[in-house]
Amino acid sequence: MSRSLAALLLAAAATIGSTALADEVVVYSARNEQLIKPLFDAYREETGTQVRFVTDKEGPLMARLLAEGRNTPADLLITVDAGNLWQAANKDLLREVDSPVLERNIPAHLRDPGKRWFGLSVRARTLVYNTNRVKPAELSTYEDLASAKWRGRLCLRTSKKVYNQSLVAMMIWAHGEARAEETVRGWVANLATPPYADDTRAMEAVAAGLCDVTLVNTYYFGRLKAKRPNLPISIFWPNQGDEGKFAGVHVNVSGAGITRHAKHPEQARRLLEWLSSDRAQKLYAGVNLEYPANPATPPDPRVAAWGSFKQAVINVSEAGRLQTRAVMLMDRAGYK
Ligand code: FE
Repeated sequence: MSRSLAALLLAAAATIGSTALADEVVVYSARNEQLIKPLFDAYREETGTQVRFVTDKEGPLMARLLAEGRNTPADLLITVDAGNLWQAANKDLLREVDSPVLERNIPAHLRDPGKRWFGLSVRARTLVYNTNRVKPAELSTYEDLASAKWRGRLCLRTSKKVYNQSLVAMMIWAHGEARAEETVRGWVANLATPPYADDTRAMEAVAAGLCDVTLVNTYYFGRLKAKRPNLPISIFWPNQGDEGKFAGVHVNVSGAGITRHAKHPEQARRLLEWLSSDRAQKLYAGVNLEYPANPATPPDPRVAAWGSFKQAVINVSEAGRLQTRAVMLMDRAGYK
């Protein structure tokens, strides 16, 4: 074989090699490896497409996407909280995706109206109370936790966490800034303890009787009860009546969007669509005791056992749009 022919064959092999490489997707994920790897393994089994991924906190991942610009290897960004997804879109890190599959599978209030990101799991932020000290009939709404009957009985997680910023942003959307601030001031006045660093500690304080009620994402409740089933705490679904614009439990999402400079946008879209499908939704939500975003997929039996509830149908992107105002409001109200 002549040298030039060998070189030609090598070049052909390299072309085939790069075609094979085109059948991969690169994901930057703020969801940790243990939550996403089972999914990507299932995806490779089903489609032959390899998913390479990097995990980190959302801040560093977004900074990295910004710094890499058009040289980024990332095709898809996965992160939690609509506030973070909104920030990524606002920094122009995500591109618009036209997908009838995603629009069919994901309800409109759980995705960006600008089509740059899509919710993949629903996280419900609800009330957890001490079953020895509170009767469920005493509980009603998020707003009612500001009333005098809860003086010295409330525990909260810190306002620094995006989860509470998103909840307050939704109250601003629903009630306007003045009434939302009144509610937050009421919460602060009712605190039994300084705010906690995380949802689990707030629930442990409720269980220990330091306070009677708190506000948490349900998957933390699920994890804590799995470890300590005898804790005297239970879930209550607030705002289930006719509360006007905030009728329903505050929900947020984890979700994903295709990056502005994706090298494999088609493969990324296929992965994103697959993530919204029934099989993936079961895995994606179940592994973290969350709710599937696709209403056709039933929640994991452990999650379904907490009962069903009505969601507040407010587009979760409002959590991002109103985040700065929520942070300033909580600061004014003295919510640390
Ligand atoms: Fe969390």
